[in-house]
Amino acid sequence: NKFEQLGLNESLLKAILDLGFENPSEVQEKAIPLLLEKDTDMVALAQTGTGKTAAFGFPLIQKIDADNRNTQALVLSPTRELCLQITNELKNYSKYEKGINVVAVYGGASITEQAREIKRGAQIIVATPGRMQDMINRGLVNIKNIDYCVLDEADEMLNMGFYEDIVSILSDTPDEKSTWLFSATMPQEVARIAKQFMSEPVEITV
Ligand code: AMP
Repeated sequence: NKFEQLGLNESLLKAILDLGFENPSEVQEKAIPLLLEKDTDMVALAQTGTGKTAAFGFPLIQKIDADNRNTQALVLSPTRELCLQITNELKNYSKYEKGINVVAVYGGASITEQAREIKRGAQIIVATPGRMQDMINRGLVNIKNIDYCVLDEADEMLNMGFYEDIVSILSDTPDEKSTWLFSATMPQEVARIAKQFMSEPVEITV
């Protein structure tokens, strides 16, 4: 099995079997071994539909400590729809990994309910930048100890005017974390975020 050769563990391989994925996509083949091997920053140029969610999702699930209830990873994505889609995929990937909770945080829904879910223990938070910033301002979430931050569709988030929110959110995370940035294009604003918040990222292109 080619997913096994990438270094993925038994519970992920079982979940992948259920999903019916037969072979890793190009971005998965390039990103997964790198992300599993060491804690590195990564910039990946990849379009939607290339399988990028699993490219960061599989390593993320494998690296999260399920016995630790604290928030260990933050995934930022541009829209509520994408946020829910990623959350759903991460839940599917982690279905055989007991104790991993993935919580979606996005605008247009009850902040109280989202805060309650986080309080129950969310190792992974998948959020839109605006609502995430709102929750940080209200003291409803703590991302000061996260190990991983994923910026998904970074160009889209910046197109939508989330630059300030992203800078503010990233400033609230520890320097030692690993940051994985996915973007279809590399406009100046994306490059600026990468330069400001990432150190010697490995670069992959598909
Ligand atoms: P994404 O680019 O992450 O939005 O993924 C696009 C679609 O491809 C999603 O519906 C995934 O479930 C599917 N997908 C991701 N990886 C694979 C794979 N290795 N084999 C088959 N389908 C996949």
